[in-house]
Amino acid sequence: MLPGEFLNVICTNFAVGALDNISVNTLCARSNEGFVVLLINAGLMTLLNKISRLYVAQRISNSVEYCNRSPGSEVTAAVARHWSLEVCKHYRNTGKPLGPQIHLIASAEPYRSGQLHGWETFVFCHELGHIVAGHLNTREYWSSDASLGMVETFKEDESREMETEAGILGYVMAREYWAKQSSTGESAAAGELDDRFVFGNMTTLFDLLFLLGAGESKSHPNPLDRVCTVAAFVCGDALAETVARS
Ligand SMILES: [Zn+2]
Repeated sequence: MLPGEFLNVICTNFAVGALDNISVNTLCARSNEGFVVLLINAGLMTLLNKISRLYVAQRISNSVEYCNRSPGSEVTAAVARHWSLEVCKHYRNTGKPLGPQIHLIASAEPYRSGQLHGWETFVFCHELGHIVAGHLNTREYWSSDASLGMVETFKEDESREMETEAGILGYVMAREYWAKQSSTGESAAAGELDDRFVFGNMTTLFDLLFLLGAGESKSHPNPLDRVCTVAAFVCGDALAETVARS
């Protein structure tokens, strides 16, 4: 997907891993020696995981095997929707990914893991988009931060242009990743990539970001505009207009 020379730079200078920290965030940090680490806090993964279970419970009836609040059979689509909004509201108020504990029946698990993996891929590819676009090479976008054993953190919230660029590159890379999965037969629709799957995953992620309180800011367009920008770039203005109307 990426030129070999560039991949070499990525493999020798960058590392990625989950940080056991409940706050919901991702960031790039740089060490004194110039190594860059892409950190994804466990809190974000916990939140996405929790929401993905509640989304499946809304779409597939009788898919809840266990719930710590009420018997699985009583978790209807309406209840699951109410709880997913509750999780988002709680996060908006406290910054903590807390809510009901749910286990799904085995046959519903592929839907949950597919959705979750899709979201995680977009989060990861967005950050990778900043790297590929060369944003990390700009001195002014780094601020000194001695936490985490690193010396600097990347100021992702500096400009809308950067966010738009990382969003589009992130989509293209996520799509490439899924196409590769299809061609190696590891996805459900082996050999064929359905663009609706990729676009749908991105749309639900941005929809979720909106529910989690991500609004328009100096650096970030609102989540709907972010989806529309990617839609216009990859599929043309007609799709962007359809998404905006929806
Ligand atoms: Zn970004």
